[in-house]
Amino acid sequence: MITTKKDEIYDQDTLPSFPYAQLNEFYEIRRYLGKTCLGTKTIAYHSSFGCPFTCSFCAVVPIYNARWKGKSAENIYKDILFLKNNYGGNAIEFHDNNFFVSEKRTVEFSNLIKKENMIWWGEGRIDTINKYSDESLAIMRDSGCRMIFFGAETGNDEILKRMDKGGTQSAAQIRSFAARMKKFDIIPEYSFVLGMPADTEEESWKQIKRDVEFIREIKEINPETEIIIYVYSPVPVEGSELYEKVLASGFHYPEKLEDWIEPSWEKFDLRKNPLTPWLSAEMIDYIRNFETVLNGYFPTYSDIRLNRSKIKVLKSISSFRYKNKLYSFPYEIKAIQKIWKYRQPEIEGF
Ligand code: SF4
Repeated sequence: MITTKKDEIYDQDTLPSFPYAQLNEFYEIRRYLGKTCLGTKTIAYHSSFGCPFTCSFCAVVPIYNARWKGKSAENIYKDILFLKNNYGGNAIEFHDNNFFVSEKRTVEFSNLIKKENMIWWGEGRIDTINKYSDESLAIMRDSGCRMIFFGAETGNDEILKRMDKGGTQSAAQIRSFAARMKKFDIIPEYSFVLGMPADTEEESWKQIKRDVEFIREIKEINPETEIIIYVYSPVPVEGSELYEKVLASGFHYPEKLEDWIEPSWEKFDLRKNPLTPWLSAEMIDYIRNFETVLNGYFPTYSDIRLNRSKIKVLKSISSFRYKNKLYSFPYEIKAIQKIWKYRQPEIEGF
């Protein structure tokens, strides 16, 4: 095997502009701007590459090695305006791994986009955006920033340390930040990673139940918080304490390329069925059942097919279970979610 050196990440502003007009000659761009909870013609845009952090569970780390380069606010705005004026774009999803690395760039972009009356969404870090001033957050909201995706991961400070999140993220900060976002009317979309490696079965159970309680606490602080639940899937990050622990548990990846198409590995990338030795089938069921009840009692804002009456029905059939923490066999909720094709953003996106 020959491994070549990783190339640098180029200064995004020195690259040629995206050739939207040429592309449109072959594929009608207007048709690719989808209907989402943000708008009827949603632009998907990548304004930066990489991420300056090195979380030990994240697939972005081995690709970019803690490097990040972003386009200037002005150039992002130019592209968005072009897509709006020529193809009818009226909302934006920023798919950057970490859109909000620079407060200055975010505020500059917010000030530019404000007059365009477009709702926008992006992915960021709690500790980074928590350092933003109140004034910056207010400008973002005024400009149309309606929801931000954050990796909250867990309410356990020990595990957060093991995850190598870098920065200052802690359980206390995750709580207080949910409250801060409420003040600014920006929906925090918190993703959690349950089922991290533990030494004993008892410890695994304890940790899963602690995280479930933590999620409930966040919902009390700010019920608008969107919760995304993943089950931990190992990512090979060299030198990471977490990955060493994973290997020691007996976990290994498929050895041949064709092994990846085995049904058991099919969902690995979605972090839904991770085949990890420290998790039992009962634990996975517990997590999935809790998720079903939670999604029933707090249906996601991002599912545009759910109207008010459907939300009311879902909430009322899930209410007894959620309030009394009865998560086992939630077949009645699952049946309704199946009939109404309930949309889980972690699987289908917006
Ligand atoms: S901040 Fe997010 S994108 Fe960056 S390394 Fe951590 S998990 Fe990955």
